[in-house]
Amino acid sequence: MTSSLIARRACVPVTVGGVVIGGDAPIVVQSMTNTDTADIEATARQSAALARAGSEIVRITVDRDEAAKAVPHIRDRLAQMGVTVPLVGDFHYNGHTLLADNPACAEALAKYRINPGNVGFKAKRDRQFSAIVELALRHGKPVRIGVNWGSLDQELLTRLMDENAASAAPKDARAILHEAIVQSGLRSAERAEELGMKPDAIVISAKVSAVQDLINVYTLLAARCRYALHLGLTEAGMGSKGIVASTAAIGILLQQGIGDTIRISLTPDPGGDRTQEVRVAQEILQTMGLRSFVPIVAACPGCGRTTSTLFQELASEIATYVRERMPQWRGRYPGVEGLNLAVMGCIVNGPGESKHADIGISLPGTGEAPSAPVYIDGKKATTLHGANIAGQFKALVEEYVDRRYGRS
Ligand code: SF4
Repeated sequence: MTSSLIARRACVPVTVGGVVIGGDAPIVVQSMTNTDTADIEATARQSAALARAGSEIVRITVDRDEAAKAVPHIRDRLAQMGVTVPLVGDFHYNGHTLLADNPACAEALAKYRINPGNVGFKAKRDRQFSAIVELALRHGKPVRIGVNWGSLDQELLTRLMDENAASAAPKDARAILHEAIVQSGLRSAERAEELGMKPDAIVISAKVSAVQDLINVYTLLAARCRYALHLGLTEAGMGSKGIVASTAAIGILLQQGIGDTIRISLTPDPGGDRTQEVRVAQEILQTMGLRSFVPIVAACPGCGRTTSTLFQELASEIATYVRERMPQWRGRYPGVEGLNLAVMGCIVNGPGESKHADIGISLPGTGEAPSAPVYIDGKKATTLHGANIAGQFKALVEEYVDRRYGRS
């Protein structure tokens, strides 16, 4: 589903291991592992978990020879698990050597990420950048030119700052920083094209960690090229801060039609679930009406009219139920990811919101009759009573899904 309110910026589509980024393709969800890539089993397991959560491309760090040697084994281990997600290699400093020394790694990866700020310095920069691009061409792989302001090409930045200082009307230093980030990406892409790479093998990203900077950088970049763009707020942070900052920045850019693939860079809690970044990416796209992944459960926040925990328990139980049922539903019920449910706390907004959903329930608030009307396709269908309202409502959802999405 693509929202008709958003006109996507035109770009040259890039195919990464069978997944299309850009053009008319849906916006792709990506993620990145945080395991040691040399640990084949751990990286394969986490890549599989990310893919099963919905990540359509998974990036892995390739920082040393042991990691490069592990890559084809990770791909094979994933295949044994029935997971065929494209793997992207994240290279810094020594990518040219690792890819040249490990052709099986170069072949197993579906795309190479090159950071133009970390590819080498002075005379080595062009030689090492060219070497990676030539290896990508030899293996028929696309690249992502991934600029990051934490590792921005300092020679370029210094030169632009000096030129600005000498100009008659110097601009704000922040504007020059943004220009350096954009130029770093565009010049590297132009150099890749000079070496023979076609625009349909080039994705650009230009990540920064502050919302307003990210919006400005991508707005400039989008206006100046037709390359597919990978969006992400780098170092977004932990918990709600990371989610809110990423959503604010990426949401505004997506609304302007900018962005062909997204990754949410959340810092997990120690031992936390890495797949959270995939769910957040999906939720951003789905709540903006750009894609559908799992049925949405609308719920009111609750208030003084919901003094028992029944309402929170039901909202949580239904959301979990829907997510857990999706692996089975997805195969049997095409289109079920577009289902809308509502779990509402009381009569004030319950019936109204439930009528907007495909199937919604309004629980009894404090002082209301102990009954829960259910609305299906905008009409009151039944009223549930008793101790097992959750079970009865799930049965109605199951029946509705089968009737509406089941193959005849
Ligand atoms: S629907 Fe009822 S319980 Fe929910 S927030 Fe509104 S008034 Fe409160």
